[in-house]
Amino acid sequence: MTMSLTLLQGTYIVAGLLFILALAGLSKHESAKAGNRYGIIGMAIALVVTVLAAVGGINGVGTANDREGTGVLGLGLILAAMAIGAVIGIARAKRVEMTGMPELIALLHSFVGLAAVLVGWNSSYEKGIAHPAIHDAEVFIGVFIGAVTLTGSIVAYLKLSAKMKSAPMMLPGRHVINLGIIVAFFVLTAVYVLMPHEQEFTRQLLLGVMTLLALFLGWHLVASIGGGDMPVVVSMLNSYSGWAAAAAGFLLNNDLLIITGALVGSSGAYLSYIMCKAMNRSFLSVIAGGFGSDGGVVGEAKDYGEHREIQADGAAELLRDASSVIITPGYGMATAQAQYAVADLTSKLRAKGVNVRFGIHPVAGRLPGHMNVLLAEAKVPYDIVLEMDEINDDFADTDVVLVIGANDTVNPAANEDPSSPIAGMPVLEVWNARDVIVFKRSMATGYAGVQNPLFFRENTQMLFGDAKERVEDIIRAL
Ligand code: NDP
Repeated sequence: MTMSLTLLQGTYIVAGLLFILALAGLSKHESAKAGNRYGIIGMAIALVVTVLAAVGGINGVGTANDREGTGVLGLGLILAAMAIGAVIGIARAKRVEMTGMPELIALLHSFVGLAAVLVGWNSSYEKGIAHPAIHDAEVFIGVFIGAVTLTGSIVAYLKLSAKMKSAPMMLPGRHVINLGIIVAFFVLTAVYVLMPHEQEFTRQLLLGVMTLLALFLGWHLVASIGGGDMPVVVSMLNSYSGWAAAAAGFLLNNDLLIITGALVGSSGAYLSYIMCKAMNRSFLSVIAGGFGSDGGVVGEAKDYGEHREIQADGAAELLRDASSVIITPGYGMATAQAQYAVADLTSKLRAKGVNVRFGIHPVAGRLPGHMNVLLAEAKVPYDIVLEMDEINDDFADTDVVLVIGANDTVNPAANEDPSSPIAGMPVLEVWNARDVIVFKRSMATGYAGVQNPLFFRENTQMLFGDAKERVEDIIRAL
């Protein structure tokens, strides 16, 4: 059945509004679940209408393909592709641990990039286009953004899953390489757009060369970024995947894909900006890849003296006498799945009248909002979970800080050592408290690979072992 253009556009507007409501909802803890629901409903509507329009055709618009639709055979193929995708997606989603989410998301971004490359290449073979110059430019831009997103996301996946070193790769002349590829992209686009369509082989060759250059650029951009700057990369690739989807929307004449891509692209860009501000990095430098890292020696061993250890009983003793406690969780809380035990300890201490609050660093964990999600899952009240800026001045008046599996985000070297790869990044100034207890399994470095002088301070004591087990030991001892 052919679909009317008005019905299609009207439905797309409804879906687009639901996506905007989803983003608005996801910006606050309290409304995040509702935001997710709006997104799911919007996506379900978008999928059903797009499939119906693709199969039955759309009245009076677009290319001949759009008007005719793909018919029953097309419907069969679409449903088969969706079924295969759904089976793989559901199986993967069921198996993934919360700690594996960041790399899974990076991998999913690479699929969006791959889709944009395939759509672009497919579109380059289309004949009888109304505005060939515009279409050619769309093909080139779409394939370029898609290819950068594809390899960039694969490198991010490899780095986040520790299958590749998180230290920055420092090719000599790396800025010239990046700039050279971008200039080459503009030149090749102009040549491609101006070249007569009869020279089909040369045009495909140009597109092929540009695709290879863009694939290299994506890989090089992300490989050049140091571990400490990875949060910005994750949100930046999120943004690129949005622009890749928008480019595919132009090529497929699909307004909703353009809207959705632009929403993801711009919210990802804004998130990158927030992350840069939180880490005191220049947005443009990080986007340009590796400009932000000065090649500081990662993992450089310095002698900070001896560390002191404490056992669960001693920690319980300190907590029993405390009137104010701040908990600063990090990636180790996620690995240990310690959030429920931490929530339990929090309610026990609060029941004894202790003022317990959480200090959350913007890049703690491996995902924006990672710690907030874990604490919400364990039902920690939102009003005691504070951002770094809200709590950083309060450490000086705090009796005990529990650093649960955090490392880079509580590293004073960021403030004190200009040669550190994380220099300049604002951190939670836990060392200003009376006593600091650090929960971790060893003296190993954190994600950025730098030593942490906090562990050797006079008011710091290390509580070694799995964070969940140690917190449970403290609860028993209390
Ligand atoms: P880090 O990754 O710096 O350190 C985590 C610490 O947790 C490790 O030192 C580890 O020490 C400890 N740990 C691991 N498992 C356990 C366990 N089972 N029990 C107890 N401790 C454990 O954590 P932060 O959250 O402080 O910093 C996040 C880092 O990740 C930053 O460098 C940030 O830039 C980066 N990043 C953040 C992203 C984001 O979006 N938030 C994205 C990409 C990177 P040990 O092995 O000794 O136990």
